[in-house]
Amino acid sequence: MSLLVVGTTALDSIKTPYAENPRLLGGSASHAAIAASFFTKTHLVGAVGDDFPRKYINLYRKHGLNLDGLQQLAGQTFHWSGEYEVNMNNRQTLDTVLGVIENFSPTLPAAYTKLPYVLLANIAPDLQANVLDQMRRPKFVVADTMDLWLNIAREPLLKLLKRIDCLVLNDSEAAQLVEEDNVIAAMPRIHKLGPKYVIVKKGEHGSILSSPKGLFIAPAYPLKKVVDPTGAGDSFVGGLMGYLANQQGGLEKKLRAGIIQGSVTASFCCEGFGLQKTARIKKADITKRVRELTRMVDW
Ligand code: AMP
Repeated sequence: MSLLVVGTTALDSIKTPYAENPRLLGGSASHAAIAASFFTKTHLVGAVGDDFPRKYINLYRKHGLNLDGLQQLAGQTFHWSGEYEVNMNNRQTLDTVLGVIENFSPTLPAAYTKLPYVLLANIAPDLQANVLDQMRRPKFVVADTMDLWLNIAREPLLKLLKRIDCLVLNDSEAAQLVEEDNVIAAMPRIHKLGPKYVIVKKGEHGSILSSPKGLFIAPAYPLKKVVDPTGAGDSFVGGLMGYLANQQGGLEKKLRAGIIQGSVTASFCCEGFGLQKTARIKKADITKRVRELTRMVDW
């Protein structure tokens, strides 16, 4: 079983109170696809400009990503810059340059259209819908989004929600989507918009799944030091979807286990700038932390 990931393939300029790093490999699809690659064969759909460094393509290759759906277009790569506050939970977007994704209209390679698992990582909802239009009967479709699209593309996002199985978003986005600050109260309202499964991410406080079987509460892996949380949400959903695509069995059980695998994968992302730490780990490192986390919640 394998996975399709569409989203941004970006250059990120990230500033924390302790360091500043320009033009790192980033983007929702980069983080999600590399996280997923620890678990399953992953196919990337995205667009980069002619300024995209060769070494980043090599990094995708090193993780075994199928790049037939990655287009190199004339122009600038999507560029995001952000700055974190001292507590590392709050961040401000300083600038977003859409570049080549502004007019990007992907045509999927034929082999991609039959992939069973689809991750519509954070990108414009119209683009997420465009990819979904080309898929033939996927087994499970998950979408991620962010406040920008809730602000400027609410209608296309609401249309998309009717076509997906699961929505993953953070607590403030959930509050914004249904105008309800209480996460537990917001979740049933999100189900009414379409998705049968809703996962709300709460940063260092873990995540909550709401499904037809009820709620599942998952912790985050506890870290002593966060270097840069950029891409943690994407790594979480990438790890989760990679795990789902690779496992047999009932969906609810797989989702719960996948959330734990995704949480642990995201913990590595937070320990380095951009993808620097994630790019250095092995599957065994994830397995070891999953074991530790499992022990921490056993009572
Ligand atoms: P996260 O920290 O999980 O919210 O993801 C941050 C990543 O999302 C960065 O690598 C950015 O390049 C990417 N990103 C930032 N803004 C957007 C946007 N408007 N649409 C899609 N991806 C974005």
